[in-house]
Amino acid sequence: MEKAASRLEAVRANIARMCKPARRAPADITLIAVSKTHGPEAIRPLIAAGQRVFGENRVQEAAAKWPALREAHGELALHLVGQLQSNKAEEAVALFDCIHSLDRPSLLAALARAMDRQGRRVPCFVQVNIGAEPQKGGCAIDALPAFLAEVRRAEIPLAGLMCVPPAGIEAAPFFALLAKLAADNGVRGLSMGMSDDYEAAVMLGATHVRIGSALFGPRG
Ligand SMILES: *Cc1c(COP(=O)(O)O)cnc(C)c1O
Repeated sequence: MEKAASRLEAVRANIARMCKPARRAPADITLIAVSKTHGPEAIRPLIAAGQRVFGENRVQEAAAKWPALREAHGELALHLVGQLQSNKAEEAVALFDCIHSLDRPSLLAALARAMDRQGRRVPCFVQVNIGAEPQKGGCAIDALPAFLAEVRRAEIPLAGLMCVPPAGIEAAPFFALLAKLAADNGVRGLSMGMSDDYEAAVMLGATHVRIGSALFGPRG
């Protein structure tokens, strides 16, 4: 309990510290606590410490964990930060308040259909394959302008751009590139930065940081 609260405080303090030279307001950055693989007993102390925005990377896991937590703790926002299969779009739209992994026309169509059917518009980040890695999800940089136009035509609320930079090399240049792509395409939100690199992401304009292990400890 105390550990969770002090980790949360430390992450918030780091965000605030990086905001200063960047002349940003800490309130403009949404801290998403990524709770994947962690059970309710690990999540509750963070809720008790005031955290209200959480992230999961799998629909099934989130559906098993969050209805009960929401029931018990009231207003909580849940973000999907992982890859989404089109056949889970319906369930994702019902469960999540924001989706960070919209990256291809087939998923766009599935999400638009689900949102129409449920009468619920869920804001989506368009994920960009910022390192052009074949094994990773995300829209190719070259395809981004056309895909963003499709998203806008489908009347899906566009939350911004999201990326997961390549592992093992400096992330900052990729954050800077995502920020440039957002500016070039008239997009405001930037979902970037994880436990190891969120300070750089905040300096480079992140509006949403997705932080797991720095809040929950290592995943088992
Ligand atoms: C797991 C995950 C995170 C959080 O990762 P940490 O390194 O534990 O902070 C952020 N974004 C995505 C897409 C993830 O899958």
